[in-house]
Amino acid sequence: MALRARLAATLQPGWRTRFAPAPTGRLHLGHAVNAVYVWSIARAFGGSVILRIEDHDRQRSRAEYEASIREDLDWLGLHSDNRALRLPDMLRQSDAPDRYAGALNALQAQGLVYPCRCSRREIAALELGETELRYPGTCRNVAVPDDETPARRLRLGEGMLSFTDLRHGTLAQQPSAQCGDLLLRDRLRQWTYQYAVVVDDIEQGVGVIIRGDDLLASTARQLMLGEMLGRSIVPHLLHHPLVVHPDGTKLSKSRGDAGLAELRDAGWSADQVLGHAAWLGGLQDGPAPLPAAALDRLWTAP
Ligand SMILES: [Zn+2]
Repeated sequence: MALRARLAATLQPGWRTRFAPAPTGRLHLGHAVNAVYVWSIARAFGGSVILRIEDHDRQRSRAEYEASIREDLDWLGLHSDNRALRLPDMLRQSDAPDRYAGALNALQAQGLVYPCRCSRREIAALELGETELRYPGTCRNVAVPDDETPARRLRLGEGMLSFTDLRHGTLAQQPSAQCGDLLLRDRLRQWTYQYAVVVDDIEQGVGVIIRGDDLLASTARQLMLGEMLGRSIVPHLLHHPLVVHPDGTKLSKSRGDAGLAELRDAGWSADQVLGHAAWLGGLQDGPAPLPAAALDRLWTAP
């Protein structure tokens, strides 16, 4: 497998990756595919897995979902390395608001941030980018007073950024054409996903980002932000296939897709779920059961 050779040549022992679910629902097979990629690569190539609960969205996050995530991972036999890395066992974005404020101050000091008074509806009415809403820069040069709104945007350059993904090869993206200036904090004073995840990855020394293809399009903007934040390591990237419906849409609870807890209640074993996820993710030829302790064999078996 070409990817195996690339991983072996690229990853030096001691690197960190993360499994970072949002506690806005229960884990389903899509999460299991990501977990199989994350844990199998970490165990086979000398990495550690950080478990981070991405609860930056305070409106949608629920303590009961966080508890269910931990229960499902325990049942699967997937254990994080937080303690070995001297990180909190319960690592949550909501536990460290100062981290995001401090990073925002550093960006502000460089003149890279400005207040944005636009509503979501105004932006939606204005402009549709290639595949997502593009902020047209309405407030970029009009000096909106700082105290008028807590919403803050990052000035992005116009350029293309190229990067290498371990699976896709070299790609180029132009964030200014895709999404425009990036929202860092919204009108409700909540940190955005794009911002919090980059600050966290730098703070926690994440050197390898393993996630689904749905996030591929936001890679260049995150790399640009990381550079502005003065990161010391440029992360390696691996975007893996997503489990999708025949019509191409993602699995989700709102579409009625079975959660891992429901599969467990229906009699599936943890090994069956992991084996099924490895198969769906293209890592083995069939859905043969796969114990967590043997995940490394997806990469090391002859
Ligand atoms: Zn604006």
